[in-house]
Formats: sequence, C-alpha cells, structure tokens
Amino acid sequence: MKVWTADLGISTLAHRYQHVTENIAEACRKVGRPIESVRLVAVTKFVPVDVMEAAAGLGIQDFGESRVQDVIPKKAQFTNRPIRWHFIGHLQTNKIKRVVGEFVLIHSVDSWKLAEALSREATDQGLVQPILVQVNTSGEPSKHGITPELTPAFIERSVSELPGLQVQGLMTMAPYSEDPEAARPFFRRLRELRDELAGRYPGVSLDHLSMGMSGDYAVAIEEGATMIRIGTGLFGARPRD
Ligand SMILES: *Cc1c(COP(=O)(O)O)cnc(C)c1O
Repeated sequence: MKVWTADLGISTLAHRYQHVTENIAEACRKVGRPIESVRLVAVTKFVPVDVMEAAAGLGIQDFGESRVQDVIPKKAQFTNRPIRWHFIGHLQTNKIKRVVGEFVLIHSVDSWKLAEALSREATDQGLVQPILVQVNTSGEPSKHGITPELTPAFIERSVSELPGLQVQGLMTMAPYSEDPEAARPFFRRLRELRDELAGRYPGVSLDHLSMGMSGDYAVAIEEGATMIRIGTGLFGARPRD
C-alpha cells in the first residue's frame, strides 16, 4: 500500500482540524444552517492508521475511504472506536462482497449494474445497505456518475427493483478548479435535483447531499451539503491516486 509520508505531528493535524471546523461553522452561519446539519467525513486514503487514530482522538468520527484493499485492514484495527466508515470511491462489482455491510454509507453508486450487484449482495446477507447515487453534474467524461437527466428514472427504478438498498441521497464531484466558486453551479444542480425528487417516491427521503472537498466545501455547505469529504485539508497533500 502506498503511504503518504508528510511529517505531520498531532499539533498540525489538530490545527488543520480546527481550521476546517471554523470554516464549516462560518459557512453555516452565512446561510443560517445549524452546524450539526453538516457532517465532516475525513478522507483517509493513503493516511496511515496511527494518524487516523490521532484524528479519531481529536473527535473525528467519520472516515471516508476509496480503496477497498486498503480500508479493510485499517477497519480491523479500529474495533474499539465508534468510527462511521464511508465508502466514497469508484467501486468495481468484483469487490462488493467486501464492502456491503461494512460501511454506514456507500457514496459512489454510479451505475445501474453496480446498484443491482449491491442489491443482490445485501439481500444475500440479509441486510439493508444505505447508499447515495453519484451524479455526474458536470458531464465531464472523466467523472463517474449517472447523468442528471437519468437520475429520476434511476431513483424510481431503485424503489421497486433494488431490495436491500436504501437510497439516502445524492453525491457529486465538481470539476477541479482553483476557484471554489466554479464548483457552485454543480452543487446547486445536485441540490435542485434532490429537491425535485425528494418525497416523490415512498421510502426515499433523499436527506443527504455529499458534496464539497478540501477546495470547495464552504461553497458546498452554502448550497446545502450535508456531508463534506475532506482529505488534503486535514492530512496534507498525498501521493497521486
Ligand atoms: C480523495 C477524495 C476526496 C478528498 O479530496 P481532497 O481534495 O483531498 O479533500 C473527496 N471525495 C472523493 C470521492 C475522493 O476520492
């Protein structure tokens, strides 16, 4: 496993965490949202377990991982802490057995084929797996996700055809930009889509919007994010994944 090696003492991590939580509070205040309405998911791909322990010690309760092969051993080492584990990366159908039932939420359901496979596995295991539908709001070909146009049909079909899955909301990734404002239209699009679909199908409340990363989470909160996924802003730069 590739490990990110920045020299990062607890004080640095604590300092960054404080900075992030202040920014979250500021963004919430700006738009009149309670801070409890935003959950910080610390993205820990490439972050070694001892640093994750330090993060948990600071009060971080949600970890997001995108690499199945790395997260399973890490999870095993955290059995004594009440961590909520999120799966946020592109998921291949041959890895789903190791993911279903292991994460409070899979943020990255980006195809019908994957959704069907997850549904079958959850049904086999006799459990209900919460998921988010990943939407490609920018239309960038390099981004995974369902097109906004096809999302309503996807959600509608999921109600009748995907036992074992509970769709809790939508997720998106904005195109990379130096300018956080550049992400706003994509976050707004996701929220509008959610607002349009919420309440339309019984049992599908679409409470969650997972959007915003280190560079643009304040904008995402202003646009209604309930979960922000922060890696670099907490742990520093990492090796390219
Ligand atoms: C890596 C990753 C993040 C975190 O990105 P940062 O810019 O480091 O905060 C968020 N979401 C997903 C899906 C990721 O893969």
